[in-house]
Amino acid sequence: MAGASVKVAVRVRPFNSREIGKESKCIIQMSGNTTTILNPKQPKENKSFNFDFSYWSHTTPEDVNYASQMQVYRDIGEEMLLHAFEGYNVCIFAYGQTGAGKSYTMMGRQEKDQQGIIPLLCEDLFTKINDSNNDNSMSYSVEVSYMEIYCERVRDLLNPKNKGNLRVREHPLMGPYVEDLSKLAVTSYNDIQDLMDSGNKARTVAATNMNETSSRSHAVFNIIFTQKKHDMETDNTSEKVSKISLVDLAGSERADSTGAKGTRLKEGANINKSLTTLGKVISALAELKKKKVESFIPYRDSVLTWLLRENLGGNSRTAMVAALSPADINYDETLSTLRYADRAK
Ligand code: ADP
Repeated sequence: MAGASVKVAVRVRPFNSREIGKESKCIIQMSGNTTTILNPKQPKENKSFNFDFSYWSHTTPEDVNYASQMQVYRDIGEEMLLHAFEGYNVCIFAYGQTGAGKSYTMMGRQEKDQQGIIPLLCEDLFTKINDSNNDNSMSYSVEVSYMEIYCERVRDLLNPKNKGNLRVREHPLMGPYVEDLSKLAVTSYNDIQDLMDSGNKARTVAATNMNETSSRSHAVFNIIFTQKKHDMETDNTSEKVSKISLVDLAGSERADSTGAKGTRLKEGANINKSLTTLGKVISALAELKKKKVESFIPYRDSVLTWLLRENLGGNSRTAMVAALSPADINYDETLSTLRYADRAK
């Protein structure tokens, strides 16, 4: 079954101190759903793109395009959560250059009103479960796993002692999965928060010339959500299982633009391979949904897309947030992020 097309949002973060120090100019304009990027070298040249949502961060809440963390959650996260309640697998991922705001969008910060999509979605999940507790015929279970994909290898973030690389296998019915990946049952938002915090600490971050703590791995947070309905009259129990995958991708900057060498260059090539494959998969799915013709979808070309197969294609719903810097000095990377996002629609 061809599902709805991918929901795509672009989100510009405020200027950072480096950009302010360089007196960078803002090259992004937004009007309704249209985002325009100006070429700083050729002021007359600009390119416009239409997305489901175009978000500013550094204006005031009166600006129609301004979006708080909660707004982004309401537009994107909550919709995907409701699809999970309907029984769909869902996936939300954040794409963009290092420092553009992927982690802020997915995880956010600890301060009040600064939490990102993942904590807000987890909190809302338990609120919605508790709200339906007066329906005795329903019962729910929630399990989470958290992994990192680095250079095509999978590491368990909920069991960092398990240093070995985990094997990726395929179950005849459930599809691709990671062998021995911890899957922990949780009964409250606080349980999830504790697991997320320890998983985040375990995440690999390596320095590059571009940014001291640039993230070179993909972080995949999965929620396996099971709803059981017991029919009192027939005494039958039916079950709906949905997998919610929330993905903070590695930085999309090209290895050569950061002056990477050796291991770092190899890292870059692997990262690009997953991101390029993800781009191909998403655009092939977008084509499939538009034209309703089968075409080859290269899930197997990277570990990331292989593991997300059940969350991207077929009976699933996907949303993407493309994180952007507002500054002229990042023109090339920002344009390439916009193009990537454009192909996903
Ligand atoms: P990435 O994950 O893409 O490398 P981060 O999410 O870590 O980037 O963002 C870099 C910095 O910018 C962080 O300090 C983050 O808190 C801040 N930031 C990013 N996006 C926003 C935003 N929309 N509003 C406010 N601050 C942001």
